[in-house]
Amino acid sequence: MNDLGITGGKIFDGFRSYIANIYIRDGRITAITSDYLESKENYSAVGKYVMPGLIDPHVHFSLSLGKYRSADDFESGSVSAAFGGITTYIDFLDPVTHENEIEEKFLKRLKEAKNSHIDYSFHMTIAHPDIDPVTLAKRTLALGINSIKTFTTYSTSNRMTDNGYILDLLSITRKYGIIETFHAEDDAIILHRSKIKEKHLPQDLPFLHPSESEASAAMSIVTMAKLTNGQAYIVHNSSGLSVQMIKQLDAFENVRLETCPQYLVLNDTLYERDDAYLYTLVPPLRSRLESFYLYEALKDGSISTVGTDHCPFTKAEKFENRLNYDSMPNGIGGVETSFVLLYNKDRSEKIINDLVRVQSVNVAETFGLKNKGKIVVGADADIAIFDPTFKWTIGISNLHTKADYTPYEGRDVIGKFVSVLSRGRFVIKDGEFVGKRLRGKFVKRRKVFWPTRSEMPLFTREMNL
Ligand SMILES: [Zn+2]
Repeated sequence: MNDLGITGGKIFDGFRSYIANIYIRDGRITAITSDYLESKENYSAVGKYVMPGLIDPHVHFSLSLGKYRSADDFESGSVSAAFGGITTYIDFLDPVTHENEIEEKFLKRLKEAKNSHIDYSFHMTIAHPDIDPVTLAKRTLALGINSIKTFTTYSTSNRMTDNGYILDLLSITRKYGIIETFHAEDDAIILHRSKIKEKHLPQDLPFLHPSESEASAAMSIVTMAKLTNGQAYIVHNSSGLSVQMIKQLDAFENVRLETCPQYLVLNDTLYERDDAYLYTLVPPLRSRLESFYLYEALKDGSISTVGTDHCPFTKAEKFENRLNYDSMPNGIGGVETSFVLLYNKDRSEKIINDLVRVQSVNVAETFGLKNKGKIVVGADADIAIFDPTFKWTIGISNLHTKADYTPYEGRDVIGKFVSVLSRGRFVIKDGEFVGKRLRGKFVKRRKVFWPTRSEMPLFTREMNL
């Protein structure tokens, strides 16, 4: 007998929508049918949208940054994420420089994540690496990780990886089934800008990290990825103009792009305010025009995924650095609001499948999360149930993060995730957190090979994915 039936809801699987009942046993989907089957429990989803649990490819829980630590640990972060419809996320290992640190850094994060209430994975992170790329690829895969994060900037804090190493690693990505991911900003431009002004304020962020710098680094990565037939993933694209330029290069077999909701719903006018320090993140918020182009790219499929880059700090931590940006802990929260903010840009049923693709289906496919991101028989029963009529106002008092502010305070929105299941068990049920005793699992990600254009189904080819 089935453990649970979710009946009468409208299913959005990223491509089409239809009303059906979903049945679950032992954490997996066993049937999707218009029939009513026997099950121990029934949950009526009539009038609700039922989608595969969202997958956030970019979060920073318990991120240690000098004397600061990001406000959410894996427990609070995972609860907040679940309220946002997220059932799996990918966090990061602390940066690795030498081969002998790999195991230790992996075990450290694994231990920190043990209180997560939903499933998770990690990206390997390298900084100024002194490891042979082939050894790095093999050791990373052996951990159940297939993606390696590199920084093209932050030379001053020794986190940068130079283009020589980037090229060598990119050139083996397709052979070993790994992905090289990038924080893309041109280090020389940033160094130059930071030297021009002696004193740096939060208000200077757009000057210190201009979008030209992001575009320049991204173009270099795209060029190398295309010439090596590599698998490159650029995180947190904030510049719509940069994305439009990448589009011209027609490199989507080799390059996938991620953006974040903050770059689509906020803009750089916030840096003119007295509380500009609350909006310090890198890359910074861009102009309305950049944001417009970014949203166009999201809608036309040039951007494959949406991550949140969730990395909040408290108001006090931000405030104490308001006159000295150089010691500011960068980052804002967003794991709980990502879907609803993007849904409210459009508020039509039409946008739901687009959002399910960029926030679930494509993330699973890009990073090799085989049993996630789909509503099919046999997949993990990670399911998010959304009430499209629920009206509420986003505010820190009704979010579940440990941060004490949200950049979206006071926004009236429609739609809310009311129930969320991880492997067939409720984490959120009818608006209440019920997953206290549930523990998420570390999901192993094996070798992944992105399809070439000729291997892509026609509908995804048209979407450039
Ligand atoms: Zn990040």
